[in-house]
Amino acid sequence: MDLLNTLVDKGLRRELPTRAEALAVLATSDDDLLDVVAAAGKVRRHWFGRRVKLNYLVNLKSGLCPEDCSYCSQRLGSKADILKYTWLKPDDASKAAAAGVAGGAKRVCLVASGRGPTDRDVDRVAGTIKAIKDQNEGVEVCACLGLLSDGQADRLREAGADAYNHNLNTSESTYGDITTTHTYADRVDTVQKAHAAGLSACSGLIAGMGETDEDLVDVVFSLRDLDPDSVPVNFLIPMEGTPLAQEWHLTPQRCLRILAMVRFVCPDVEVRIAGGREVHLRTMQPLALNLANSIFLGDYLTSEGQAGHTDLEMIADAGFEVEGAGEVTLPEHRAAVATGGCGSHESAGCGSHEGAGCGSTEGAGCGGHEGAGVCGSSAPATSTSAPVPQVDEVRRDLVSVRRRGAGTDLAPNA
Ligand code: SF4
Repeated sequence: MDLLNTLVDKGLRRELPTRAEALAVLATSDDDLLDVVAAAGKVRRHWFGRRVKLNYLVNLKSGLCPEDCSYCSQRLGSKADILKYTWLKPDDASKAAAAGVAGGAKRVCLVASGRGPTDRDVDRVAGTIKAIKDQNEGVEVCACLGLLSDGQADRLREAGADAYNHNLNTSESTYGDITTTHTYADRVDTVQKAHAAGLSACSGLIAGMGETDEDLVDVVFSLRDLDPDSVPVNFLIPMEGTPLAQEWHLTPQRCLRILAMVRFVCPDVEVRIAGGREVHLRTMQPLALNLANSIFLGDYLTSEGQAGHTDLEMIADAGFEVEGAGEVTLPEHRAAVATGGCGSHESAGCGSHEGAGCGSTEGAGCGGHEGAGVCGSSAPATSTSAPVPQVDEVRRDLVSVRRRGAGTDLAPNA
């Protein structure tokens, strides 16, 4: 297919596809799906080989959020029967993180519900970062605490944070349909603050909220402009008790097309399959490893994932390798920027910045804390011409509220 040959060539050159090309990937037929995966897989292997980076989520503070993100089980007014607790103590967070590291994770993502941290919260998280780094040599730490105020990103960087996650989640034009308590511009501002402080920026999306193909392409192109080092792709977990509980739009095939499109648009960026992997990709999860180079090990913030050992077996069975602590995740041109090797972020970038290319969190998530759901009300996300996908099979049997790990007396899943 000419389209796929063109996209592979562009991906290897870190050249931005056109919007029409990105839309065409989403519009491919099931007959062409394996060709799409194979083509995007070439780009993935060029920049990341067969390595799979494992991230591990620690939910520092769960539920009781004053914000109204419609996809989120921790939102204001949520009826979801999730764990609710306030800040974990540093030692408890470190124990949870250690379980993930022992399971093979090289990055720990510290997530807290809420609009954004107070300066006191940032100090508290700084203590947690120190405890984790003291007790887990070489581990990377990403913070995901919501909207940042001036100076907070610098404070987190000084405390040892390596990265900051804050997702755009959906297109600017539909953002107001999913959340009313903050704006798309607020989110962009926080990603830029993380960048400016020298933190590795992580920002992604949630698919399956009733959005159109154009919305998906919009948000992925916006992410490329923002130039994060990693892009988590969440698939909405329609949790009961949230406004989006009925939004079952995703099939495994659509999830694969979305991941392929993200890979073509952000070829040299760490693309992570985040929340919703088990619920929507189901038995196609191993195929998705040809597109993404990173996953979360074990459980999500408020929902349970498949067993950590099953994640590891899946990676091995699919012919991939867990990325070791000593291996550099990002391609050389990006890693140099991330470590300050060649100045600012301006020269790298997954995207558009200089025409060269650069490199978390959750489908049930965070930062976009929960990474799971749009439209809030009955009106589907509206934007352009493409029809909203038909409602797919409802698989509530695959959604389990997290009852183990952080905030409980039970061992974490890792
Ligand atoms: S995504 Fe974050 S800010 Fe939004 S409701 Fe959930 S915890 Fe609160």
